Amino acid sequence: MIPDSLLSELENKLDQTIESQRRLSGGSINQAAKITLSNGQPCFLKWNTSADPNMFSVEEKGLELLRSANTTIHIPTVYATGETSGSIGYMVQEFIEEGQAKNGSAQHFGQQLAKLHKKQQEQFGLDHNNYIGRLPQSNKKHDDWITFFIEERMDPQLKMATDSGKLGSKTVSQFQSMYKRLPTIFPKEPASLLHGDLWSGNFFYDQEGQTTIYDPAVYYGHREIELAFTQLFGGFSSAFYNAYKEAYPLQPNFNQRKDIYNLYPLLVHTNLFGGSYAQQLKRIVQRF
Ligand code: ADP
Repeated sequence: MIPDSLLSELENKLDQTIESQRRLSGGSINQAAKITLSNGQPCFLKWNTSADPNMFSVEEKGLELLRSANTTIHIPTVYATGETSGSIGYMVQEFIEEGQAKNGSAQHFGQQLAKLHKKQQEQFGLDHNNYIGRLPQSNKKHDDWITFFIEERMDPQLKMATDSGKLGSKTVSQFQSMYKRLPTIFPKEPASLLHGDLWSGNFFYDQEGQTTIYDPAVYYGHREIELAFTQLFGGFSSAFYNAYKEAYPLQPNFNQRKDIYNLYPLLVHTNLFGGSYAQQLKRIVQRF
C-alpha cells in the first residue's frame, strides 16, 4: 500500500482526495501505483524511500526535453514531484493505459525517434546531470563524442565497478587499449537528443497504438548509442528499425560497432546487479 504520509502529502499537493489506489508491478527502481483523484482523474504514481529525492525532478526535466522535440510520441505529463517530510521522493504523472501495437505503430515509433534524434546541439552532454537507473549520470559537456563517451560514460562506471570489486585492473587496461581505437570505430555524428535509457521496459503502445516513452535519462549524444541499446535486450521490431533508417539513415557498418556502445548499459547493469553482465562486457572489450 502507499504509505499514509505520502497519501496525505499528495492530497495537499494536488488539492484532491485520493479515491482509490492500486499497486502496479513497478519498474526496476521505484514503487508504482495507479491512483484516482476525487475529480475522477487517474494518475500514475511512483515513489522511492531510498533514492535521491532530486531524481524525480530531473526525470521531469528529461520528459520536458523529450517533449520539446515536438514528436508525436506520447510523453506523459507530470502533475507533481516532491518529497514528504519523511524523505519519500515521489512523482505523479498522467496515467496512460497500455494497449497493443496497431498497424503502423512500430513504423511511427521509428520515424518519430529519428525526429527526436534530429534535435541536435553543438556539444555532447547536457546542462544538468541526471540518473541512469538509480546511479548518477554525469552530462558534463564536451566538444567531441569520444571524450564524452570515455570521461562521462565509461570511466565513472568503470571506477564504481572496480571500487566495489566487480571488475579488476585487467579489465580496466583492456578498456584503455580499446579507447585508443575509438577514433577509427565511431563515425562522426552531431550531438542528438536521446531518451538515454530506451529499452523495451521504457516504452509501450497505448490503447490507440501510439508509442509512449517514459523513464528517460536524457542527454545529447551519438544517436547510435540509443539504437545499440534498443538491441541489447530486444523488443523492437524490424519495422521500427526500417522506419528509423528511412527517416535518418545510419552510416555503414553500425552492426560491427554496436557492442561498444552497449558497454555503457552493461557497465551500469554490472554496477546495479553484477553477475553475468560483467562477463558479457568483458567478452566485448576483449574483442576490441
Ligand atoms: P522505474 O523508474 O521504477 O523503472 P518506470 O517509470 O519505468 O519505473 O515505470 C514502471 C512501469 O509502470 C513501466 O514499466 C510501465 O509499465 C508503467 N508506467 C510508466 N509510466 C506510466 C504512466 N505514465 N502511466 C501508466 N503506466 C506507466
